[in-house]
Amino acid sequence: MPSEKRVYKIATIPGDGIGVDITEAAIQVLDKLAAVDGTFTFQWNEFDWSSKNFKERGWYMPPDGMEQLKKFNAIYFGAVGWPDVADHISLWGLILPIRNSMNQYVNVRPTRILRGITSPLSQCAKQPRDLDWVIVRENSEGEYAGQGGTTHGHTPHAVATEVSIFTRVGIERIMRFAFDTAKLRPRKKLTMVTKSNAQRHGMVLWDTIFHDVAKEYPDITWDKMLVDAMTVRMVNQPQTLDTIVATNLHADILSDLAAALSGSIGIAPSSNLDPTRGCPSMFEPIHGSAPDIAGKGIANPVGAFWSAAEMVRWLGNGELDHVADGLMEAIEKVTEAGVKTRDLAGSSNTKEVTEAVCKEIEVVL
Ligand code: ATP
Ligand code: MG
Repeated sequence: MPSEKRVYKIATIPGDGIGVDITEAAIQVLDKLAAVDGTFTFQWNEFDWSSKNFKERGWYMPPDGMEQLKKFNAIYFGAVGWPDVADHISLWGLILPIRNSMNQYVNVRPTRILRGITSPLSQCAKQPRDLDWVIVRENSEGEYAGQGGTTHGHTPHAVATEVSIFTRVGIERIMRFAFDTAKLRPRKKLTMVTKSNAQRHGMVLWDTIFHDVAKEYPDITWDKMLVDAMTVRMVNQPQTLDTIVATNLHADILSDLAAALSGSIGIAPSSNLDPTRGCPSMFEPIHGSAPDIAGKGIANPVGAFWSAAEMVRWLGNGELDHVADGLMEAIEKVTEAGVKTRDLAGSSNTKEVTEAVCKEIEVVL
């Protein structure tokens, strides 16, 4: 054991609604992990960049916000968005600029059915329970390029364009990341998703570059799907999928479906990665601020804990996998024991699930 503890400096952005509740829960669990493991510790720094403060101050992030974030080892993000601010303002005020400025061109979204959680698929007797996927989302370009405009806005002649941008550099790097991910998984299988029958420029470039990169990975089995047919396959044949790579928009939609199939949107994690490690990566559950349950103390913190496990794995860069695995085991012991929030048909609140996971960490680690 090293004589000095490693210190990880983490920027937290709790944001809005249940983002605040689940960030607090994640910090509690991460501090518990560090205390029990004993080789590292976290130094937390909270940023109050939220929709409420945007309404008062007129900005989500200050002008030097990115410079401030660059000083950290990682960013832990809750959720952003509130009904009194248009969604495209909050998204473009905070989370999308961070992903873009921090070179977080990959968004990794694992999905599997945790012990003790019932998938809607297992209610159908014909379906196998086997669902274990990693969705690799292109996180920097495509449909979220933010290009386009509106003319004659408030007239009957209004026209808006939303331009997707796909580059060879952008596509190649996400394909390589996806193949490398598939290589580390037991099934060594990659499914590439597009809509290249209807979208004849960018999606066709995806197809072309996918075939080029696939030649570098002869040991990976691959196939291609159109995104509409993919939704059917995810429901009808979940066991035939493993690693999935898709564009910014397609993967966003598919990962909400994946979360629902694994039991609830409240359990799904995500990692926004800069694979070059030049900038801090950012970890966040995939769900939003959920105004309908905000402030009630009933948000499911499992997606936040799973994201926390992925943050530990990333920070350790191979040396803390046992700690991340320990957290996942603690989470599954808790769900298996039936300590679950209402979205999973349980009756526990956020605090009870958090305390149960902290207790299991002491047993598991
Ligand atoms: P975003 O635009 O940020 O993706 P969204 O509009 O897609 O947000 P969410 O906030 O993700 O919506 O959630 C949709 C609904 O799912 C919520 O209103 C809530 O009922 C439920 N939900 C989301 N996250 C959780 C959670 N962690 N625990 C329990 N229920 C949740
Ligand atoms: Mg959503």
